[in-house]
Amino acid sequence: MKIDILTIFPRMFKGPFSESLISRASRKKILKVDTVDIRSFSRDKHRKVDDRPFGGGVGMVIKPEPLYCAMRSVGVRKRNNSYKKNNIYRKPYVVYMSPQGKTLDNEIVKNLAKFGHLVVICGHYEGIDERIMNYVDEEISIGDYVLTGGEIPAMVLTDAVVRMLPGVVKERGSIKNDSFYDGLLDYPHYTRPAVFKGHRVPTVLLSGNHKKIDEWCTKEAYKRTKERRPDLLRK
Ligand code: SAM
Repeated sequence: MKIDILTIFPRMFKGPFSESLISRASRKKILKVDTVDIRSFSRDKHRKVDDRPFGGGVGMVIKPEPLYCAMRSVGVRKRNNSYKKNNIYRKPYVVYMSPQGKTLDNEIVKNLAKFGHLVVICGHYEGIDERIMNYVDEEISIGDYVLTGGEIPAMVLTDAVVRMLPGVVKERGSIKNDSFYDGLLDYPHYTRPAVFKGHRVPTVLLSGNHKKIDEWCTKEAYKRTKERRPDLLRK
């Protein structure tokens, strides 16, 4: 999979993308993730990419031209309106990180992991010029709060999508047990020692009886979900 992240702060991605899962996926050539600096497409001698909003009001808006040129540079042409119908998963699928989008969940993540090429736009200031939406396939939010920019949301999205790619997480089965994969929360986990400050690991986990352990895990996953997220069971 290829992911291009369009941002005015490409350096923010250096640390998070050079460690752990994303770096491993890149080394294994499962993933190619690049940041594209929107400023390098500015015609302004000071590399300015924002301007005052039409109609007045506070704040600045990211201008359409440099962002559009950045999108073109990674192969974006027009919106993939019919991407499902025509199975055009190989075309770049454009996501704008925005508090006004659909809230990111595991279903969205699984769907995004099917694309060969994602282009992720990070906004800043008051956001991006609305006319760029003509080239955006999906707006995605990471929750009902407002962050300064789309960089951290883009990192969240990238991490969640990359985990789904075959070969990235060593034990693929562990993804299927993770919270939300099948609509349940994960069961509780324990490791050595068997007794910690007087707190014991549930006896069944030490029994070596895999059938019983599986039953316990399923029961605990349901119990947790019912207690903490009954809305998931209703779904
Ligand atoms: N004026 C915008 C509004 O109220 O909807 C908020 C703009 S915000 C300060 C700047 C940028 O941060 C947005 O363009 C978006 O890319 C990103 N952003 C902020 N909160 C976000 C969230 N919850 N999810 C995804 N992106 C977010």
